[in-house]
Amino acid sequence: MIYDLIIIGLGPAGISAAIYAKRAGIKILGLESEAPGGLLNKINAVDNYPGYKHVMGPDLAFQMYEQINDLGVEYKIKKVTNIEVNGDIKKVYCNEEVFEAKNIIIATGRKAKKLGLKNENKFVGKGVSYCATCDGALYKGKDVAVVGGGNSAIEEALYLANIVNKVYLIHRRDEFRAEQELVDNLKDMNNIEILYNRTVTELVGEENLEKIVLDDGKELEVSCLFTYVGYEPYSDFLSDLSITDEKGYIKVDENYQTSIKGIYAVGDAILKKVYQIVTATSEGAIAALEVAKRVKKG
Ligand code: NAP
Repeated sequence: MIYDLIIIGLGPAGISAAIYAKRAGIKILGLESEAPGGLLNKINAVDNYPGYKHVMGPDLAFQMYEQINDLGVEYKIKKVTNIEVNGDIKKVYCNEEVFEAKNIIIATGRKAKKLGLKNENKFVGKGVSYCATCDGALYKGKDVAVVGGGNSAIEEALYLANIVNKVYLIHRRDEFRAEQELVDNLKDMNNIEILYNRTVTELVGEENLEKIVLDDGKELEVSCLFTYVGYEPYSDFLSDLSITDEKGYIKVDENYQTSIKGIYAVGDAILKKVYQIVTATSEGAIAALEVAKRVKKG
């Protein structure tokens, strides 16, 4: 079976592409390695997606998933390991299984960056987390720390402050890069202590994290360190195709096509200026309509 389109990644960008492609009547397959909804499953609340004044990330993810399910979109939970281009046909490898399509939309998104500290990997799941929505409840009533100064760090610090006893918000500069409205909300929480111009240098503990050490020597006894220092694209499986920049972001044209005809990319894995749910869904729609046009031209 040769599909008209394989969509790799079913976060907001891939789901939007699936909705538009399916409604355009072309033969599509979605491939997702984890749960449909992507990063939405790992964020607490969304307050800037039109139509929803306030919605929990996993709830929005589930509604998007229901929409493709109701439309009858064919999808499989598979991790793509490689793509091979044979003229007009693209082979998508998922370990031992291979799927074929005339077009591909890559919508694999991004994963949280690590701080790169010694012991960081050892404490993952034992006091180091990259997902407050997933792990926050485990630290109810305890003291925790959040690192970062962007939208993610501030949003998740605010979320955690409602669950835990105290949040130390550690930022390497004296000014946040997050939206002002979010930064203003920090003032309403009396259990968030902001530590500017500081970085984490050491993670200490036997089995579980017991304390962190900052660059000025200060020690904080915390049960978990939540790290929000940016993201990196999921694009390792594209290394043979030469369509990414040096940081792994996929380069696309104004129609979201890469330098390879019939291979498109949308959402957080591409090189662009604005990384938002609303931009991801818009890009998914544009790419899917481009593919549908190509398929109908024959
Ligand atoms: P980000 O905007 O890239 O911010 C990363 C933060 O981590 C920055 O404050 C950065 O410090 C800090 N940082 C980076 N490396 C560090 C290190 N090694 N040690 C300590 N601190 C470090 O990442 P993000 O907040 O995850 O947001 C990613 C994108 O998603 C952005 O475009 C954002 O607007 C978007 N987003 C939007 C929303 C929303 O609209 N509500 C929510 C979440 C994310 P510096 O500031 O000094 O560089």
